Amino acid sequence: MPFDYLIVGAGFAGSVLAERLARVADKRVLLIDKRSHIGGNAYDHYDESGVQVHRYGPHIFHTNAREVFDYLSRFTEWRPYEHRVRGVVEGQEYPFPINRDTLNQLYGLELDEAGAAAFFERVREPRDPVRTSEDVVLNSVGRDLYEKFFLHYTRKQWGLDPSELKAGVAARIPVRTDTDDRYFTDTFQAMPQHGYTRMFEAMLDHPNIRVELGVDFEDVRRRGTFAHTVYTGPIDAYFAHCHGRLPYRSLRFEHEHLPDTLRYQSVGTVNYPNDHAYTRITEFKHLTGQQHAGTSIVREYPQADGDPYYPVPRTENELLFKRYEAMAEKESGVTFVGRLAQYRYYNMDQVAAAALVAARRLLG
Ligand SMILES: Cc1cc2nc3c(=O)[nH]c(=O)nc-3n(C[C@H](O)[C@H](O)[C@H](O)COP(=O)(O)OP(=O)(O)OC[C@H]3O[C@@H](n4cnc5c(N)ncnc54)[C@H](O)[C@@H]3O)c2cc1C
Repeated sequence: MPFDYLIVGAGFAGSVLAERLARVADKRVLLIDKRSHIGGNAYDHYDESGVQVHRYGPHIFHTNAREVFDYLSRFTEWRPYEHRVRGVVEGQEYPFPINRDTLNQLYGLELDEAGAAAFFERVREPRDPVRTSEDVVLNSVGRDLYEKFFLHYTRKQWGLDPSELKAGVAARIPVRTDTDDRYFTDTFQAMPQHGYTRMFEAMLDHPNIRVELGVDFEDVRRRGTFAHTVYTGPIDAYFAHCHGRLPYRSLRFEHEHLPDTLRYQSVGTVNYPNDHAYTRITEFKHLTGQQHAGTSIVREYPQADGDPYYPVPRTENELLFKRYEAMAEKESGVTFVGRLAQYRYYNMDQVAAAALVAARRLLG
């Protein structure tokens, strides 16, 4: 059948747009992805031992946007889940983000809420202006906590010193004077009951949507033009890297199944800021609630090369992105949306929201 739209990338951005264009406007959509599966980085599946895992690292759904939650609820039921993280420092596990319990355990104190606030006030190194991630952390928790929880983790994760990264990276991590040990505090925190992939299957289950996997945009591009293209891949690749490559941080995921192990660790994710080449270990059964005699974990090793995962938030990269963005604005018949096309650190809900906005715009 002839198609009204070509959509490149079957992650959140591409799949939400495909669903909206097909279901709301009765458009015929060809959705391609160069990978062998739908779901983009949120793809999950059952490993060889039958444990549900996230191939590209842990994906925890959280949002304050009711519209996004209601929209996705059409395609999945949810399992309530609040993510918790511990950070290992000198062999001991502490709540992370840093809260009052972290301080009390680490320094052998018995601070109450006001005491914790006074503690931070005493140790912080005021910075003005707050430009870098180093400024953010020193300004709020001071040097010792910075060195124990942030400095080496950041160096591993980004291959850069916190002083070389924009403030926004560290500003995402709160510091608390209460004992709330949830990683996120959003209104809606839940995991798709049967996984992300099942949710995407439901989203794309429409006669107007054809999904072709293992297909690269470069091949389709050569075959001919479409009236309209939605592109959710890396923006620099679309323009053949004509201004140079936008830097991305990549990861290597080391998945492991541990037979006859009901629980490997106390919470969903344990961070290792100072030891090991990996940054963190996630145990999936915490996230999914699956009952199984064994358990499956993933270790994340940051690296420079490989699949593009994290846009590197530095001023010069944003300037480079702006040059591509200016080209994108002149490109008629193409909509650029998603984490890679917008070169932005977006969570899943933000990508879904951006795709819903783009769909509305396309449909007038
Ligand atoms: C390790 C990790 C953990 C994360 N954890 C969370 C989390 O806990 N919570 C959260 O909300 N968000 C999380 N995210 C972010 C989340 O993955 C993204 O917000 C979301 O996947 C972005 O969706 P997208 O559609 O923009 O991009 P993607 O999911 O990357 O999808 C883009 C798709 O385009 C395809 N593509 C690219 N180029 C081409 C081409 N030339 N031809 C064909 N196909 C192409 C790719 O194969 C890919 O499948 C995490 C990300 C990572 C890397």
